[in-house]
Amino acid sequence: MHPQTIELLRAGPGLRHTLTVLHFGTPGSGPVATIQAALHADEVPAMLVAQALRGQLAALEAAGHLRGEVRLIPVANPVGLAQQVLGIDQGRFDLRDGLNFNRGYADVTEGAAALLAGRLGADPAANAALVRTALAQAAESLPAATPVQDLKRHLLRLAVASDIVLDLHCDHEAAMHLYASTPHAATAVEFGALLGAQAVLLAEESGDSPFDEACSRPWPALQQRFPAHPLTAGCFSATVELRGQADTDHALAAQDAAAIVEFLRRHGIVDGAPAPLPPALCEPTQLASSEPVTSPQTGVVVFHVRPGETVSAGQPVADIVDVETGQAVPVLAQSAGVLYARIATRWALPGSRIAKIAGRTLARTGKLLGA
Ligand SMILES: [Zn+2]
Repeated sequence: MHPQTIELLRAGPGLRHTLTVLHFGTPGSGPVATIQAALHADEVPAMLVAQALRGQLAALEAAGHLRGEVRLIPVANPVGLAQQVLGIDQGRFDLRDGLNFNRGYADVTEGAAALLAGRLGADPAANAALVRTALAQAAESLPAATPVQDLKRHLLRLAVASDIVLDLHCDHEAAMHLYASTPHAATAVEFGALLGAQAVLLAEESGDSPFDEACSRPWPALQQRFPAHPLTAGCFSATVELRGQADTDHALAAQDAAAIVEFLRRHGIVDGAPAPLPPALCEPTQLASSEPVTSPQTGVVVFHVRPGETVSAGQPVADIVDVETGQAVPVLAQSAGVLYARIATRWALPGSRIAKIAGRTLARTGKLLGA
């Protein structure tokens, strides 16, 4: 393993952030996986799993069992991790401009296409190698005027040329779940089975360009752009929600890291015969059918359903207790499915999203992810 330290654009005099990348394996010896933790900054279970992965990958590398390259970014958002207001961590949004750290990643398709014009041939593997180089170069040349724009540029540059991109997050209170792109549904189901995911949410396009989609979407777009030149499969990318904010546990972190290592083994980055795939705990569902359960009024939230439990349509998910009248208004699930996440606070405002259900009946359009 060799660590690399990247200096980010300075926010001002005396203000310095660095991004650390841990490189395992040998570049060029096989497929590449990029794994980053806590893009929303205060997602501590993701950072713990990254540390467990660091140990497991170091042992595999020392034993000569790595066939490709793994880039592990154990703290993907040092800028956000430095944000505190009145003693409370403020992840998720950049305090400078209010933008979500996991939105607005550049589409490097056009930049890569310009670099690839006239260079592709008939060999899919050779074409894929050229595409990877072009994608990384296009990301490298993105403009960056703030430390966070520079961070996003570096993260995309490091990941966009990879075969596998795993973006490790967590939700507020949640069961293990993941987001992936519809064309890679079979791989997402395999990965979900290894992780014990209780929801696998698929979308062609979620809206607002989250990191995982910025890595996977250039491949089909470039294949459309150059239809006469075949490409290999491209990039599988997934956003992994490692349960809830408070779910830091050594045994769970070791188990999650082992599941990721097993996934890398199945995709040629770690030596050895894969273990039998455990049975999947869920069928994949469409992100467009994920139900945001919303509160009708201001009040105290009393949940009736825990993350990972199945609800039927019409079942009460929670009560919202009005603190002036004492009246408890039940909030009913519209969809049958697994309640895979809920808020960690217990105070709701009218229209606030208090839980999410992996359903099958809704057909939402527009921006499918929360703010
Ligand atoms: Zn997140």
